[in-house]
Amino acid sequence: RRDFVANVSHELRTPLTAIRMAAESLHMGAMRDDRMRAKFLNNIQGEADRLTRLVNELLTVANLMGRPILHMSNFDLQTLAEQVEGTLEHHAKLANVQLIVNCPDDVPVVEADRDRLQQVLINLVDNAIKFTPASGAVTLDISSQAGGKEILCKVIDSGIGIPPIDLPRIFERFYRVDKARSRVTGGVGLGLSIVKDIIEAHHGRIVVTSEVNKGTTFNINLPVKQPTPE
Ligand code: ATP
Ligand code: MG
Repeated sequence: RRDFVANVSHELRTPLTAIRMAAESLHMGAMRDDRMRAKFLNNIQGEADRLTRLVNELLTVANLMGRPILHMSNFDLQTLAEQVEGTLEHHAKLANVQLIVNCPDDVPVVEADRDRLQQVLINLVDNAIKFTPASGAVTLDISSQAGGKEILCKVIDSGIGIPPIDLPRIFERFYRVDKARSRVTGGVGLGLSIVKDIIEAHHGRIVVTSEVNKGTTFNINLPVKQPTPE
């Protein structure tokens, strides 16, 4: 827990420092130079976005650290998959990554926390796009499993992959394979820990397989109906 607080403070300090430095530069005269002004304002905006994302993720972590409160409903995954696609297709296009989403009609209605499940899929597909070089592909594939008792969500990418030594640790909070690269992509290493907490709260399982320079696949098994509490 102490490590967690230390990590959080560190992660908050980095964008704050960048914002302060950009503001100082503007004061010192960059304000009068059109190009410099645009550059520093962009920095401030980017770092503020990063802070917002980080704080939102922390709120989710804090929320999940106690007993996670899930708001269950029954909903269809076809619509959810379309929403995830709608949220990220622009992002994929900018990265020149092909985004493919499959969710056939025979996938049953599930009982789950819809917002949280959406967050899971967005986190995974967002990662997949982020860690896939241009002209690669990312696939979200949802199917029925175990005779309709479970669903299987696969997020498959043709990206940079994860070295075997890092693979067991990627679900830890703040763990990033390559900190320098993640700094560029703007991640703090919370997404996958949130994903795992949410899936486990739904009595599901998440498994990852990966090969460096070939790609990564996340498999999620989720029960269609939640077990009735004792
Ligand atoms: P955040 O999600 O908090 O914005 P992040 O994306 O860096 O930051 P996670 O989503 O928790 O953090 O992922 C942890 C690390 O696992 C990443 O930094 C990256 O090194 C690695 N990783 C995750 N998904 C993939 C993927 N699809 N391909 C390659 N590496 C991945
Ligand atoms: Mg992430």
